[in-house]
Amino acid sequence: MLNGVPSLAELHAMPQMQQPSYPDPAAVADVVSRLRGLPPLVFAGECDGLRDKLAAVADGRGFLLQGGDCAETFAGVNADNIKGKLRVLLSMAVVMTYAAQVPVVKVGRIAGQYAKPRSKDTETRGGVTLPSYRGDAVNGFEFTPESRTHDPGRLLQIYNSSASTLNLVRAFVKGGFADLRGINAWNADFVRNSNVEARYEALAHEIESALAFMIACGVDDEQLSTVDFFASHEALLLDYEHAMTRIDSRSQLPYDTSGHLLWIGERTRQAEGAHVAFLRHVSNPLGIKLGPSTTGEDAVRTAELLDPDRIPGRITFITRMGARDVRSKLPPIIDAVESTGRKVVWSCDPMHGNTFESANGFKTRSFVDVCAEVNAFFDVHEELGTWPGGVHIELTGDDVTECLGGVDALAETDLANRYETACDPRLNRNQSLELAFMIAERLSD
Ligand code: PEP
Ligand code: MN
Repeated sequence: MLNGVPSLAELHAMPQMQQPSYPDPAAVADVVSRLRGLPPLVFAGECDGLRDKLAAVADGRGFLLQGGDCAETFAGVNADNIKGKLRVLLSMAVVMTYAAQVPVVKVGRIAGQYAKPRSKDTETRGGVTLPSYRGDAVNGFEFTPESRTHDPGRLLQIYNSSASTLNLVRAFVKGGFADLRGINAWNADFVRNSNVEARYEALAHEIESALAFMIACGVDDEQLSTVDFFASHEALLLDYEHAMTRIDSRSQLPYDTSGHLLWIGERTRQAEGAHVAFLRHVSNPLGIKLGPSTTGEDAVRTAELLDPDRIPGRITFITRMGARDVRSKLPPIIDAVESTGRKVVWSCDPMHGNTFESANGFKTRSFVDVCAEVNAFFDVHEELGTWPGGVHIELTGDDVTECLGGVDALAETDLANRYETACDPRLNRNQSLELAFMIAERLSD
């Protein structure tokens, strides 16, 4: 029916990890059929545009910045929150572009990042055991039996939330908000209270005078006033992703129109599993998370399955080894893939291999570990002569206190102040900017 894409029933008959267990199958079928009739959220041509940009990154001619919440929430679909995330991502991109003089491809974990794989199916509190929270796409965060029941109606809510988020993002990036000539104004209502902030301001002033010079010389085109920004999420829920798949009228190829770039998580990338069987047939650019148990052979086989034709820009490997293991685990994977002659984007996720529980009970990450993994990633690529193509970061535009360290030297006792994530801990605005300066330095070495 969908040009090679297995049917949903065929997918569900394959080994499938991390799927909801809905109490009423008829209700799921109804939601899926409603989703099939709704307009696509993104267009095939946009996905192709991103793939072309990623092909340049794979070739060493650009850098990928992918970032956003671990889990978006329905409550977070409001202008301030979306604007905050966009602003921090665009600020990071500016730092990297200007300081390192490399084009930065900007991709949000946004407008669709609502479903979470979990290591445990249930959670026990005070003697009560309930299903784990699997993201707003599946059930509610609140610890009650009603809220934790898997509800297919939420799939329509992801569609609507993604649509309104994407609408605002598109308005911001094309409507003047991202105009480089107003770069200082982006920060106007940031609290200017840190070294990073001062460093950012100084850089913004430099950019303003460079732009004034260019404009005086007569360069004043569209490119200064708009940016390309893409949406990505983990393609976890087979029902939703399958229902959002459409045939592109120009090429007759299937695209998963729920987002521009989709990634397969560390827990769902089994070669014989349903996620690989589905995503191999859609034409979007794909991310694949690779954790510390990955062998070179696994990575090569996954790339062969998902990209048999070696389409430039199709595959981004997002490695998340942990600061301690990255120097030993990453090189054999890169060697194996590169020795096939295949070109991929190598991106570093310095978050997911560095999570631990603080003594006072918060799931957290340490900014020094995040920096250590990024630095080791750059070192490894430098030693192998390969291109460190990008980073994948969990972050927010707010001044949350979820990760330790950074310019504000957040300590364990600070975590309780503003710990707001629905899932994994995110870098706050200052930590994100600080990381961007560090990456810019590595890129301009
Ligand atoms: C994530 O990106 O939030 C995630 C769950 O990652 P991973 O699949 O790498 O564990
Ligand atoms: Mn996460």
